[in-house]
Amino acid sequence: MIDLRSDTVTTPTDGMRQAMSRAEVGDDVYGEDPTINALEEEVAGLFGHEAAMFVPSGTMGNQICLRLLVPPGEELLCDSDAHVVTYELGAAAAHGGISTRTWLAAGGRLVVDDVRAMIRPAGYHTVATRAVAVENTHNRGGGTVQPIGTLRELRALADETGIDLHCDGARIWNASVATGTPLPDYGRLFDTLSVCLSKGLGAPVGSLVVTSAARLDRARDMRKRLGGGMRQAGVLAAAGRYALGHQLERIAEDHARAGRLAGLLEVDAAGVETNIVSFDVDDAATVADKALADGVAVSVVAPRRMRLVTHLGIGDADVERAGAVLGQLLS
Ligand SMILES: *Cc1c(COP(=O)(O)O)cnc(C)c1O
Repeated sequence: MIDLRSDTVTTPTDGMRQAMSRAEVGDDVYGEDPTINALEEEVAGLFGHEAAMFVPSGTMGNQICLRLLVPPGEELLCDSDAHVVTYELGAAAAHGGISTRTWLAAGGRLVVDDVRAMIRPAGYHTVATRAVAVENTHNRGGGTVQPIGTLRELRALADETGIDLHCDGARIWNASVATGTPLPDYGRLFDTLSVCLSKGLGAPVGSLVVTSAARLDRARDMRKRLGGGMRQAGVLAAAGRYALGHQLERIAEDHARAGRLAGLLEVDAAGVETNIVSFDVDDAATVADKALADGVAVSVVAPRRMRLVTHLGIGDADVERAGAVLGQLLS
């Protein structure tokens, strides 16, 4: 089976399993897991922030960040295809009482003037905008990278209007590798970031919340309240540390393979900026079913839209084979 559904389907490599088996562990609810502590310190440093906290999933990471920035009854802005409003089951409203308004972003690409037009101050009737969430890379947009210049413009707008910025950085690694933008350059523009170890990096579990030390104290309480306090979680953190040390630069290979796949399928290869190939077909479910019968699993993200994602488990031969199977179905 050539599984192109998502970069979440990877399994730990032998080297990663060895690192996990050797991990020094302790009770992380007591703050005593040395491997968790080392991972948190490492990731905070990577983004130029004071502190970081390990959480079981990117969804929990995003939701803790949103609640750090937006009080109940106040407002978050994000684009209408953002993971935080499409794939998190209304968590910001359910858990945080957060009101969300969205803008339309073609291809997931941020346009700062679209955001500027939506920010509203507190008033007797109006809901105050407290934060903006930006996804980088943008999943439903097709792995779109938000250019650093645009993000700097957004930071200037946030400073001018007194709102905070959250980055859903599940695939921030892909953005950094694709553009050569150093991680701290992204980090310093955001008040909170949530970054995933379990996508392109290939760890089995885990994400981190990255922010200031003061906010992180509140974040630890929120995580415990959500049931996200874990005990000897160092075995998981060891996988993340191994991924950062050995599987980060490798992401460039996923991007090259996604480009090759787009070429084989004759879809707009210039639109493939990272490891996601998205394109329109008449009937995505039928194409996906037929591809599966031929040993190629793909995602249907809308009735007429399919998504293919390259990752650690996909080699050059897999790309050629998937390209041949899908090419035939599409022609
Ligand atoms: C995968 C993903 C997340 C987090 O997903 P979990 O399955 O909760 O870890 C968050 N944002 C984006 C854009 C994602 O693709």
